[in-house]
Order: sequence, then C-alpha cells, then structure tokens
Amino acid sequence: MLGGGFAGGYVARLLGRRGATIVSPENFMLYTPMLPEAASGTLEPRHVVVPLRMMCPRAELILGRASAVDTERRRVTVETEDDVIAVRYSNLVVALGAVSRTLPIPGLAEHALGFKSLADAIQLRNHVLRRLEAAASAASEGRQRRELTFVFVGAGYAGVEALAELADLVRDALRYYRTLRETPQHWVLVDAAPKILPEIPSKLGDYAARELERRGVDIRVGTTLESVEPHAAVLSDGTRILTGTVVWTAGVRANPLNEQLGIPVDDRGRIVVDASLRVEDREHVWALGDGARVPNEATPGQYDPPTCQHALRQARRLAKNLTGEARPYRYRMLGQVATLGRYKGIAEVLRLRLRGFPGWFVTRTYHLYQLPLLTRKLRVVVDWTTALFFRRDIAELGMLGHPERLEP
Ligand SMILES: Cc1cc2nc3c(=O)[nH]c(=O)nc-3n(C[C@H](O)[C@H](O)[C@H](O)COP(=O)(O)OP(=O)(O)OC[C@H]3O[C@@H](n4cnc5c(N)ncnc54)[C@H](O)[C@@H]3O)c2cc1C
Repeated sequence: MLGGGFAGGYVARLLGRRGATIVSPENFMLYTPMLPEAASGTLEPRHVVVPLRMMCPRAELILGRASAVDTERRRVTVETEDDVIAVRYSNLVVALGAVSRTLPIPGLAEHALGFKSLADAIQLRNHVLRRLEAAASAASEGRQRRELTFVFVGAGYAGVEALAELADLVRDALRYYRTLRETPQHWVLVDAAPKILPEIPSKLGDYAARELERRGVDIRVGTTLESVEPHAAVLSDGTRILTGTVVWTAGVRANPLNEQLGIPVDDRGRIVVDASLRVEDREHVWALGDGARVPNEATPGQYDPPTCQHALRQARRLAKNLTGEARPYRYRMLGQVATLGRYKGIAEVLRLRLRGFPGWFVTRTYHLYQLPLLTRKLRVVVDWTTALFFRRDIAELGMLGHPERLEP
C-alpha cells in the first residue's frame, strides 16, 4: 500500500487479518474534514489524526517515502529515514493522494500559507494569533487594520471551513485584547469561480454565502489573486488589500510521483484505472483516492471527485476485489456536509437540505461516525464538549518543534 491516507489507510484496515504493508511518511492518517477545527483550536490537533498502527493493527508499517516501482519484478523502492530498501509485493495499491497546486503567481510561494496538512493547520493558527499580538502592539490604526485583515483564496470546502473557523477564533480571542475591540476586522474570500462551494447544491451554497456575508465576510467571486507582497494581496479586480495573511486553498493536483512510477496517468497526472480499480494493463497494480481517475458505475461518464466519502467507498470495493472476484466499483453519493464555524453548517442528506444549527449538528455527527477508533471518537467528543462550556485557548505555540539549541 503506497500511502496511508484516507484511501490507503482504509484499504489496509478493511483487509484486516489478510494483512497489508503500508508505506507512509507519517505513522498516522489525517482526518482532513476536522482540520479547520484543529486550526481554530476547537479540537486538539493530535485528535484529528488516527495512528495507523492502531487503525490497522494487522498491517505492517514502513515509515518512509516510495520513490520508484518495478512492476516487472514486483518491487517498490522505499526511502526510509536512514536507508533505501526494496519491498516485494504480490499486489500493489497506489494511494498517494494529491498535493497543493500552486500557480505561478508572483509572491505566492514566498508569502502565502497553505492548508493541506496538520503542520499547515498548526502554523496557520499560530500565524493568526501572532497577527493579533502584532496588532495589539502596532503604532498606528492603519497597521492594526492590516494585521486584522485575512485573505483566503479558494472557496471550496477547505477555504470556506477554514475561514469560518478562524474568524470564530479571532472573534473569541479579541475579548482578551482590550485595545483592539473597536478595530474592524476584514475577512476576504476570493475565488475565480462564479460561486462559493461549487461541490454543494446551489441553494445550500447560496445560504453559505449569505451566512458568511451576514458575518461581514467580503466575498469576491469571479476574481483571481494576481500577486502577493509581504504586506498586501493584489486581486484581478484591481484591489490591493493590505494584509499580513494570505491563505491559499485554491486547488490540488494528483501527487506528481504518480508520473514517475511507469504506470498510465491521464493529462492531470491521475492514475488511470478500470471499473474494478485495477491499473490499465497492469495485472497486480491498483489505485484509488485523489490520485486516481476512478470511473463509477453509478455516474456513467463522470469520474469520482476528490473527497473522503469517495475514497472510503473506493477502499471498500478495493478491499473486496483484492481478496475475491474483482467487481466494478459503484457508489451513489448520499449527501454532502460542511461546517461554517460554531453552530452553523450545511448538509444535504438523502435529498433533505439542512442549514444553520441542524446542518452543523448533522455534519459533526457524520464526521464523528466516520472517524475510525472509539478512543479517537471519545477524545473528539470531549474536545467538543469542553468547547461548549469553556473559552478557547489562545496560546500561540509557534516554538513547538523549534526548541532553543543547547548552549556550549
Ligand atoms: C483541508 C482539507 C479539508 C478537506 N475537507 C474535506 C471534507 O470536509 N469532506 C471531504 O469529503 N473531503 C475533504 N477533503 C478531501 C479529502 O481529504 C481527500 O479527498 C482524501 O484525503 C483523499 O484520500 P487519499 O488517500 O487519496 O489522499 P490523502 O488522504 O491525502 O493520502 C495520501 C497519503 O499519501 C502519502 N504519501 C505522499 N507521498 C508519498 C510517498 N512518496 N510514499 C508514501 N506515501 C506518500 C501522504 O503522506 C498521505 O498520507 C479535504 C481536504 C483538505 C486538504
């Protein structure tokens, strides 16, 4: 199994005692739908990851990065912390997911923050809290306004949920900054598409836009980011927004390693698989998840979108195909859910559309149900319950992982 993310982790778990070898650079699976809450501090970051050794107790884990595949000799080259090893396989499952897709926008790589991994979420939280400290000690009102301006580029799930959660964090934290109570905040959501949340039914997407606008979010659709400067973002509508925070969530692309594995990929770098998730012309190689182009019998002519829901269903089919007769993958989506910060959400389940508190409640219940391991579920419930009764923690822990060196 190359990759221990949503797709790879679930296939290994479902294979159970039939066994699997997972090659992964981390020893955990990240439950991405809860990442925005880890960034805002509602959830403890450790609780949104599931240790692979607990999730798949019968599987072997090799901590490292796959770098090459030899399909003739059925071998994978893996770079571990201090070695390069060859791992033999009888069936190979490629589940390397996607990576952030940046565009050649001047200043983007230097000054913007990503939002894809746990490290990104922790960095974003620390960055936002540091902006509040910078605003509190700023010499002028203009500088304070700049520090309290936050620009999010990309209005899909990740961008909308992260903006809503972080806006709640800032609102709560500002209670402790007496000098900033009157300073206006400016939250900007930018997307090239004509609407936010294109993955969600139009009516719910419209509700989400109205709800964010009601909270003062400045939504700029049909607009692109032109450049990023150390203290400003320039948009295609000609506006130059003074800000110390630009968050980039405007898209992902298949892991570029796919193209180096010598197996067929499409023009977007996704591995080409047949209806049973088997890689074309490769007897013992399979692929799924965000890094694969997966046909779905329930949606003829349309490939699966890159979501957890689909990765999980593909994993169920693939685990069966690996151990029995290979059958075509077929999955009809039951619904979509998203949160818009505390007590607000949108959900469409079995054609029932919910918004506001019911939408938020259904979204949370769904994710709690999907999260593997009872111990993880309990930790998350304890975090949510604590958040209901106590104020957020606003400690900025940017020094974690960067301790001072020992003095000689
Ligand atoms: C912030 C955010 C929020 C999201 N929210 C939602 C949501 O609310 N609902 C939803 O349905 N979807 C959501 N998604 C999408 C969802 O996370 C993906 O669809 C899902 O994770 C796909 O699973 P995957 O296994 O294909 O990829 P991943 O889960 O990304 O797993 C890929 C794995 O491959 C590993 N890997 C990379 N390179 C190597 C290598 N060389 N060797 C070995 N392993 C390697 C990575 O470490 C990773 O563990 C969100 C995504 C993000 C980023």
